[in-house]
Amino acid sequence: MSEHAFQECINPQCAKTYAIDEIHHACPSCGELLDVSYDWDKLNVPKNLSDFEKYWSERNVPQRLSGVWRFHDLTPFAPLDQCVTVGEGQTLLQNAQGIAPFVGVNPANFYLQYEGLNPSGSFKDNGMAGAFTHGKLVGAKRAACASTGNTSASLAMYCAVTKLMKAVIFIGSGKIAYGKLSQALDYGAKTVQIDGDFDDAMARVQEVSKRLGIYLVNSVNPFRLEGQKSIMFRVLEQLRWNPPDWIVVPGGNLGNSSSFGKAFIELRQLGLIKKVPRIAIINAAGANTLYRLVEKDSLRWNGGNYDKTLVRKFYSDMTAEGRRASTIASAIEINRPVNLSKCLRALDFTRGVVREVSEQGILDAKAQIGAGGFGCEPASAASVAGAKRLVAEGVIGRDERVVCILTGHQLKDPNATVAYHGMDAELYEKYLKNRGVTETPYANRPISVANDLDKIVAAIEN
Ligand SMILES: *Cc1c(COP(=O)(O)O)cnc(C)c1O
Ligand SMILES: [Zn+2]
Repeated sequence: MSEHAFQECINPQCAKTYAIDEIHHACPSCGELLDVSYDWDKLNVPKNLSDFEKYWSERNVPQRLSGVWRFHDLTPFAPLDQCVTVGEGQTLLQNAQGIAPFVGVNPANFYLQYEGLNPSGSFKDNGMAGAFTHGKLVGAKRAACASTGNTSASLAMYCAVTKLMKAVIFIGSGKIAYGKLSQALDYGAKTVQIDGDFDDAMARVQEVSKRLGIYLVNSVNPFRLEGQKSIMFRVLEQLRWNPPDWIVVPGGNLGNSSSFGKAFIELRQLGLIKKVPRIAIINAAGANTLYRLVEKDSLRWNGGNYDKTLVRKFYSDMTAEGRRASTIASAIEINRPVNLSKCLRALDFTRGVVREVSEQGILDAKAQIGAGGFGCEPASAASVAGAKRLVAEGVIGRDERVVCILTGHQLKDPNATVAYHGMDAELYEKYLKNRGVTETPYANRPISVANDLDKIVAAIEN
């Protein structure tokens, strides 16, 4: 346990602190979210980001190989040798020249951070390394999450590899991509399918974990977000510590965007960066709570004193009107994001913006990402669709340096891909037509041909 780390309420009017080995999903005093905080001046933090390069030569130490714990100096809530790792965070930032023209930016300055390369195929592993390290610290025996798929895949994998805890996962009915569900089942997680959607499952898992004393690993767990900060550290590392102008990220439960904001707040506080990138958070139009609250209703962090009445009213109207999240980007099909307040803080600190993108926009962007040699699941493509929109609006300049986060692997949701490319009529109905996607300008249609040599040859040469 680190004596220089503690938990702290993010509400500046409360600011109560709690020991690092306590388990809370919210501040017991005021109900706001908690941060993991540090007495930085008592810790030995490197003076320059380039000092982290000394760890590159220590790859025989599992925690130094980890793309999360290589940055342990910036997330020091547990001793390094106690930090749980399964090899997460070996991810790549790549200059995506082929996709830049679609987005409308200078190809030299356009990058994709490919988090699909994580062991369970999504960025969630970064956070799970953090949550498991805390779970181990407090001696948890079981861990639970509600999930649109990737959190459960990650939790199930960490349980199966480390045997530290047993996994209990909650999913909504009919809402999970099979790539993700198959992982949870294969890794042996106890899987509970609730008659409801993600927002219902999220509410239930909080109740159940409280009643049964199960350790909760959804992103209300502040230790998840500590791990996810490392995505930004790796982006900086791969840009030789030179911050980009923009980070563009899909927004679901808003854990990722919140953790990015916290990373930049701390890097700035520690004097490790001068320039803070702006964060653009992209909602799907069918799950656009953040977009509406921030861009339509002008909700702002306001020093922690954000307009809670406005938020309450937004949600009570949502309940009254029976509005449910609906998007092909299942990983961001969330209408009640649990990290809303932390995300407002991140938007405030980074002069961030929020946009929504259509199903059409998401799938076209996804096809272009694939054609550019990357590949991702639909939610991840929202980042590129959003970047394209922000360039068209003139918010992102054509010569600015832009990093889009590809949050999950291409193979997580192959149905969406096959539907777009027109292989299967049933999938096309379900995934595209029923969602108002009428055009597939970037489809790579398979060719049907009789089992006849001349006809096959003709089909290929055509
Ligand atoms: C979880 C997830 C998201 C949403 O991230 P939040 O931190 O919940 O906003 C986006 N894309 C993928 C692939 C995910 O798994
Ligand atoms: Zn509080």
